[in-house]
Amino acid sequence: MHGPAAVKRRVSRRIMVGSVPVGGDAPISVQSMTNTDTCDVEATVAQVRALERAGADIVRVSIPTMDAAEAFGRIKAQVRVPLVTDIHFDYRIALRVAELGADCLRINPGNIGREDRVRAVVDAARDRGIPIRIGVNAGSLEKDLQIKYGEPTPEALVESALRHIDILDRLSYPDFKVSLKASDVFMTVAAYRQLAGQIEQPLHLGITEAGGLRSGAVKSAVGLGMLLAEGIGDTLRVSLAADPVEEIKVGFDILKSLHLRSKGINFIACPTCARQEFDVIATVNALEQRLEDVIDPLDVAIIGCVVNGPGEAREAQVGLTGGDPANLLYLDGSPSRKVGNAGLVDELERVIRERLQKQRDT
Ligand code: SF4
Repeated sequence: MHGPAAVKRRVSRRIMVGSVPVGGDAPISVQSMTNTDTCDVEATVAQVRALERAGADIVRVSIPTMDAAEAFGRIKAQVRVPLVTDIHFDYRIALRVAELGADCLRINPGNIGREDRVRAVVDAARDRGIPIRIGVNAGSLEKDLQIKYGEPTPEALVESALRHIDILDRLSYPDFKVSLKASDVFMTVAAYRQLAGQIEQPLHLGITEAGGLRSGAVKSAVGLGMLLAEGIGDTLRVSLAADPVEEIKVGFDILKSLHLRSKGINFIACPTCARQEFDVIATVNALEQRLEDVIDPLDVAIIGCVVNGPGEAREAQVGLTGGDPANLLYLDGSPSRKVGNAGLVDELERVIRERLQKQRDT
């Protein structure tokens, strides 16, 4: 692994979302959300499975109606990954999905209404060991907080969260996690920082409505990166206006770059310049695509020439340094043999898969 693993994580209480631990010393889990019509069971199951294949630890499904709640039961029966049900206001939907096997209820206790209804939802969660996710969003702050603060602010987000948390505290229900999302990086970061010191529960990170694939990934990486580097965050969702599978990939890339979690190949590649001895960009792109199925962690360095090549290649488990008349392949830090440019991608894929197999065998 490159560099020191410097992040000291905030200590949080562990909850279980189905079989996946969140908080405590559990790995930071990566989530996404389906964007199919939940009543279309076939399409939703297909998307959940695609997310599962991409490595999602947890998937959220929107449950806007009672019909969607019934469809959820059929979806749940066909997938393995834990499912969070997203419910707004209607406590009967929460009770129904709890019966049907929801692994987490995303519902804000303050929005449920009458005390007996809130109690019914919390009791159902308690009886079945289902955690609750409180989700505060700058776009849907309570009216009185909008008036008090004039506009969404970190303090307003935290005050909103604390109201929902107080309700669960009064009902002695500690198994929850909290998100405080805004589309502005600084507002989101400040809100999480404030709340992190006030509660012991896990925090679900996200920059909401971050944007399209590239801009949203960058914005999320900046915002979540600031928090994660400080040790804040137990689970995350990258929100992109793109295929949800991309959210999982970006989420893992963020965690990989902070050495918080490893999944699949960590490519180290030079940006290329006139000195490159083979086509670095085409090689890395082709390898990324061909090795998308890999879940085991492995560092692979693909470097265009001897300027930076040997140093980087020696640090990786598989490394290639461009050279003339032939490139030099490194295995586990030592020069192994020369490889030419012809059939280079095939050869590298073979070597990487062989190295992964060796890793699995030992
Ligand atoms: Fe250029 Fe070599 Fe540096 Fe790659 S490693 S950017 S090819 S000098």
